[in-house]
Amino acid sequence: MQFNIFMSVNKTTDLIPIAGNDPESLAMIFRDHDIDPRYAQRLLYWIYKRNITSFTEINDIPKKIVSAIEGTFVTGLFEPLTSVLSDDGSIKYLFRNANGLAYEAVYMPEGKRSTVCVSVQSGCRMGCRFCATGKYGWKGNLTAGEIINQVVSIPHKITHVVLMGMGEAGDNIDEVIKACRILTAQWGLAVGRAKVTVSTVGILPSLRRLLEETDCNITLSLHSPFAEERKKVIPAETRWPFASALAMMKEFQLKKLRRFTVAYVMLSGINDTGRHLDELIRLLKGNRVRINLLPYHPFEGDENRSTSYKNMMEFKHALVSSGIEATVRRSRGKDIDAACGMLAAVSVTE
Ligand code: SF4
Repeated sequence: MQFNIFMSVNKTTDLIPIAGNDPESLAMIFRDHDIDPRYAQRLLYWIYKRNITSFTEINDIPKKIVSAIEGTFVTGLFEPLTSVLSDDGSIKYLFRNANGLAYEAVYMPEGKRSTVCVSVQSGCRMGCRFCATGKYGWKGNLTAGEIINQVVSIPHKITHVVLMGMGEAGDNIDEVIKACRILTAQWGLAVGRAKVTVSTVGILPSLRRLLEETDCNITLSLHSPFAEERKKVIPAETRWPFASALAMMKEFQLKKLRRFTVAYVMLSGINDTGRHLDELIRLLKGNRVRINLLPYHPFEGDENRSTSYKNMMEFKHALVSSGIEATVRRSRGKDIDAACGMLAAVSVTE
């Protein structure tokens, strides 16, 4: 394991961050500050494509304009505070924003694919039972700029982005939608829309907005096919039943070709029985919603255990035999508390 310390350049400031804007919103802000709005798109090129942390690097915008920008704005890009390397090659990065909120991102290389898993909030208020972030509690929302910054400020070329780190996307939906737009737009990071995935517990109004206002893939955290049992691990089920979320996803599936997945963390003796398998098959058969089966990572003192790999494979084979696309996901970054449900900005709270 390796531990690096970077210098944080994200100081509390009254200057306006550029990252997180689209060309229209930045042009409007420029107008309000008597700066020629025609330079908005060019400036975004330097932020999203060249990832500058200082305006002095710009060489194709008149100096007079750059000086005016410097007096009012900051780039909004800043480096992580620390990083920890896992034995499997994944790296967890810890960030702290200008308001002091801590949050984490995880870089996961795998062959030609390199994925970054980013946070959308510092902590989370959904309180899912199996999740360290839920136990950390909710500290605050991240801006679209802070979400994007986790992708561009780490020293790796990224092919895929998953919004599955700390926080619930549906609980910070305006900023998540802005971030998705920046990630996929040609003027933004231009990550293919099929390579960006947002995870949610299924807050219905937010899910509808994700479906209607973005083209990104969506993963619904399911973890039980029975509402009463799901409530025990995902309290949001009480207000936002997964059955409605799934129905909404299926309805959109018919209209637009995009990838919808359900995530299923497998807990020994809790959601891995034949009864659960039969119900999963009934729920997912005959539509194009896929399922990712994930191992469980117990906390210290937690009596729950992950289903065995053998049982996960048996589930997978039964699902696949029923015509459902199913994958067993291996854990990444378990030794550095970076696997699914383990992010809790521990290095800051300890
Ligand atoms: Fe929040 Fe996701 Fe953890 Fe649930 S699983 S508490 S939604 S971060």
